[in-house]
Amino acid sequence: MDAVLIPINSPLRAAEPRVAVLAAGYLSYDKYHPEWGQRSANSTATLIQVAGRTIVVDPGMDDAVLLAGLHAAAVAPEAVDTVFITHTHGDHYRSAHLLPNARLLCSGPEQNAWRARGAPDKELLGRMVPTLTGIAPGVRMVLTPGHTPGSATLLVAQAGQLIAVVGDAVDSLDFFMRREPSHNAADPAAERRNFQLFASIADVIVPGHGRPFRLEHGAPAAEL
Ligand SMILES: [Zn+2]
Repeated sequence: MDAVLIPINSPLRAAEPRVAVLAAGYLSYDKYHPEWGQRSANSTATLIQVAGRTIVVDPGMDDAVLLAGLHAAAVAPEAVDTVFITHTHGDHYRSAHLLPNARLLCSGPEQNAWRARGAPDKELLGRMVPTLTGIAPGVRMVLTPGHTPGSATLLVAQAGQLIAVVGDAVDSLDFFMRREPSHNAADPAAERRNFQLFASIADVIVPGHGRPFRLEHGAPAAEL
């Protein structure tokens, strides 16, 4: 299993979030669908544990991959209390059905935009809680529209570094280095502004379809 713990620079205090990538995502541009995203794809699934809370960001669409990642992290599916969906493309949320006790958080603008598009998964839409900023201690949401109208990023403060879990605002390290928006971006110009934002604030980026990577002075340094 491809679980990646974000390295900790300084001692982690008990109240601080601990971030682990349960499964690094991937994508292929062979098959593209405007609603579901990349069909031959799975999103990066990220685990955040803080103050007794267990949060999964973007459970993805491959049930076996999510279950294996949770197992490797010693987290039972029933123990996940919160799922945060960065945006409403199927490759990011469909495995949420495996997490029966989780509240489903999604940005309000994204939820509204999805409803306006017809939201193919009405059960999931009914479970969603529109969210503005606070997710958990040390975990905040910021709106980073561009990939979709309400795409959002989670910022997590872990041991003196800022981790940005960005969904498809950045597909992978390659896309970030080329400052290349995802190919199904609703607003590519907004995506380019997101790149600047992340370069200015983040120490680590967890992209939507690749391994996390570290930034040094705003430039990508290394995949983790
Ligand atoms: Zn995606």
